[in-house]
Amino acid sequence: MGLEPIREETDTGADRRAPNESGVEEDDRPAAKDVAPSWTIEQSEELYRIKGWGEPYFSINAAGHAIVSPKGERGGSLDLYELVQALKLRDLGLPLLIRFSDILEDRIERLNACFAKAIARYKYPGSYRGVFPIKCNQQRHLIEDLVRFGEPYQFGLEAGSKPELAIALATLKTPGALLICNGYKDRAYIETAMLARRLGQTAIVVLEQVEEVQIAIDAARSLGIDPVLGVRAKLTSKGIGRWGGSSGDRAKFGLTIPEIVRAIEQLEAANMLHCLQLLHFHIGSQISSISVIKDAIREASQIYVSLAQSGAQMKYLDVGGGLAVDYDGSKTNFHASKNYNMQNYANDIVAEVKEACQERDLPVPTLISESGRAIASHQSVLVFDVLGTSEVCTDLPEPTQEKEHLILRNLYETYRAIAVENYQEAYHDAIQFKEEAISLFNFGYLSLRERARAEQLYWACCRKIQAIVGEQEYVPDDLEDLEKIMASIYYVNLSVFQSAPDSWAIDQLFPIVPLHRLDEKPNIRATLADLTCDSDGKIDRFIDLLDVKSLLELHPLHPDEPYYLGMFLGGAYQEIMGNLHNLFGDTNTVHIKLTPKGYQIEHVVKGDSVTEVLGYVQYDAEDLVESIRKQTEQALQEGTITLQESQRLLRNYEQSLSGYTYLNS
Ligand SMILES: *Cc1c(COP(=O)(O)O)cnc(C)c1O
Repeated sequence: MGLEPIREETDTGADRRAPNESGVEEDDRPAAKDVAPSWTIEQSEELYRIKGWGEPYFSINAAGHAIVSPKGERGGSLDLYELVQALKLRDLGLPLLIRFSDILEDRIERLNACFAKAIARYKYPGSYRGVFPIKCNQQRHLIEDLVRFGEPYQFGLEAGSKPELAIALATLKTPGALLICNGYKDRAYIETAMLARRLGQTAIVVLEQVEEVQIAIDAARSLGIDPVLGVRAKLTSKGIGRWGGSSGDRAKFGLTIPEIVRAIEQLEAANMLHCLQLLHFHIGSQISSISVIKDAIREASQIYVSLAQSGAQMKYLDVGGGLAVDYDGSKTNFHASKNYNMQNYANDIVAEVKEACQERDLPVPTLISESGRAIASHQSVLVFDVLGTSEVCTDLPEPTQEKEHLILRNLYETYRAIAVENYQEAYHDAIQFKEEAISLFNFGYLSLRERARAEQLYWACCRKIQAIVGEQEYVPDDLEDLEKIMASIYYVNLSVFQSAPDSWAIDQLFPIVPLHRLDEKPNIRATLADLTCDSDGKIDRFIDLLDVKSLLELHPLHPDEPYYLGMFLGGAYQEIMGNLHNLFGDTNTVHIKLTPKGYQIEHVVKGDSVTEVLGYVQYDAEDLVESIRKQTEQALQEGTITLQESQRLLRNYEQSLSGYTYLNS
């Protein structure tokens, strides 16, 4: 039997290295098995699970940099680290949102290809015509790209409000593409949608509320237009997880079956039943389990055929959104993942609907899906830098002296005696002595210096215990938090509230990966803290194969060298839901397109300046400057400021008003 292999995840390895026969430590020969291999990019790929969530767009190159292949498998890639460096030279400071229009195009192609394949496979005698729900990302350049990329597939848009309808009407020019009108509607919304048919738009008004039925009937009558109407059903099949409430009997949207029956009667009485042509449902976003999707399709298919049999001229079945994104790459039904792929999704929809229609000898509908997350998530990468770190004191403590306070001597003795046999007990002793030291301080029996020493000794104990815990197979429950307590904090140039609101609001996970040094072992485990003065402005939940991890592996900072992190898969929902907490505004955004020679910057959208965010809360920059000017004049007269100082203050003030809301680094 050979020697047990030495575990490689321990810190230096130097002290455990077996000396070779001559007793000389080898340093440059990888001959001996027990020399820890240097870190490889494959290890980084595995650690950050890049293949799981990033394929085919994100990977690592030989230089240890994250790269993007915006066209997926069709080739061409960009080094993200170098791209960021180049953009910084163009005065595009971090945080920076980089959008890859090629990824958007690839996502649209993929979704359409999956449905085309499913339609061929099941010989579905109908077609697929998807729409993009504008609410996922309303940015003009993105919507314009999307409409253009969608042209070959007659890809349309879904609007959920009057402003989104305004966007859709002005932007969608693809003949035959659908414009699905969802959301709460008043007369003006419904009329606008109906009149849009006169412009050649295939606008479909989906009735979501009982009241909308009569408004639609009245509007159609007064306009003399035969509209195409849809109805949103409240399914009993429920999505699970965060958006489970989007369906079910008490859901906020849609009509119950009795309400649908009433609506049919109302439309029939108005001689408009032929206008009802679409059935819509949406059971929630990020549906992780394919079985939930199947149940919903089954129920909806039955409602569809029943509507067709009741005399409505049914033509469309709209399965809503819900197609999930695998944020942690685990391919499971965990909320941050999904246990199916896009092709499974398309197959199940196509097969189920075909079967339901064939059983009743009915023509199959045109299938519509409203996938937002699955289309928009991958196209953008948020790049931000680390401003600094905070670590717990790691100095080795000096032995205590005879004359030092008993509590300090106890702490030192605890520290000294820590061993494999007693580490758990020692941990509790250390905590108790530290707490005692703090009460002694509070009662005036310990000086500030002594308290500092007590805390230093406590952290030294924790570090020594942590090293032992790291070697154990089994970690006692009460020590599980130790690593978290000891973790470093990396301060990042970012507002979670602005750039990743779902991470704060609903604990959503986004993959976060350093953009460089991926060929170097990330031997620090840290949480991230953002720029806001809010203790919620942090990220301490990260993707992992099993469940979620509370610390992210990162590299130690090098002095005078930036450290860039990328947050991935945040292209849906985050931008518009981001808020101005602490007045950190929109980030800079660039649109990058791959070219045969490299890339081209299609658009630059400068982030908010301080003046702009102040304007949102009704401050006028000129008034503000004027106020400071008056104060400096006053101070000059009173002799409390020099002319030079006053000029400098005003210059700084004015410059900060026109600058970015984030830190320049
Ligand atoms: C939000 C929403 C969508 C988009 O859902 P995703 O899960 O992001 O694809 C689609 N349809 C309706 C009605 C929605 O409200």
